[in-house]
Amino acid sequence: MTIQENLEKLHCEIPDIVKIVAVSKTMPVELIQQAYEAGHRLFGENKAQEMSQKQLLLPGDIHWHFIGHLQTNKVKYIAPFVEMIQSVDSLKLLQEIDRQALKHERVINCLFQFHIATEETKFGLDLAEAENILDCADYRMLKNIRIAGVMGMASLTEDYNLVRSEFQYLKSIFLKLKDKYFADDLQFCEISMGMTGDFHIALEEGSTIVRIGYGIFGKLRS
Ligand SMILES: *Cc1c(COP(=O)(O)O)cnc(C)c1O
Repeated sequence: MTIQENLEKLHCEIPDIVKIVAVSKTMPVELIQQAYEAGHRLFGENKAQEMSQKQLLLPGDIHWHFIGHLQTNKVKYIAPFVEMIQSVDSLKLLQEIDRQALKHERVINCLFQFHIATEETKFGLDLAEAENILDCADYRMLKNIRIAGVMGMASLTEDYNLVRSEFQYLKSIFLKLKDKYFADDLQFCEISMGMTGDFHIALEEGSTIVRIGYGIFGKLRS
C-alpha cells in the first residue's frame, strides 16, 4: 500500500474530530513530502535536531508535534516552530520551553506525558508528580506554554485487556486534572493515546490524538 492509500484507510477508520499525527521519525523527507501531497499536515518526530532539519526542508504549513524524550538543552532547536510538545515530564523542561517560546514570542502547547505502561523503560509522570507541578508557584508564572492535555504509551503487548486498562487509566488522569485544575479551560482537551497497533482500542477509550508511524509509512527498509 502507498502512503496515500494508508492515509485514506485511516481516515475511514478514525473520526474526523480525532487528530492523526503521522509519526515520521527516521523517515526521509521524500516520504514526508508524499504524505504532504496526499493532504496530510500534522507530523510527529522524536528527535529535536532531526525535526528541525526536516522542518527547514519541508513546506511551512506543516504542523509539527514533538513526541519523544526531550532534554532541556535541545528545546531551542524546535521552539521557533513546534506546535505541540507531547512529552513534557518535568517542571524544569516546562520552564525551558516557556523561556524559549518567549524568545520567539510564541505560546507552545504542551501535553503531560504519563507513565501508564507496566514496562519500566517508558518515560513519564505519575499523577502526584503532575499535581506537584500544577500546584507550584513557579508553574503559574509561565506565560508562554499552555497545558493542553495528556499523553501516554500503553505496554507493547498482545494482552489487549491490559492495553485497554492502561488507556482507561490515562483517561481517568485526564478527568482528574481537568476537574481539579482546568475546569474552566476549554483548551485542556487532548488525550493523546494510540499507535498503529492499538489505536482502535484508544479511540474506544476516548483518544483525541492518535500517533501513527508504521501504519502510514510502513517499515523503513535500510
Ligand atoms: C514511534 C512512536 C509512535 C508510532 O508508533 P507506530 O507503532 O509506528 O505507529 C507513537 N508514539 C510515540 C511516542 C512513538 O515514539
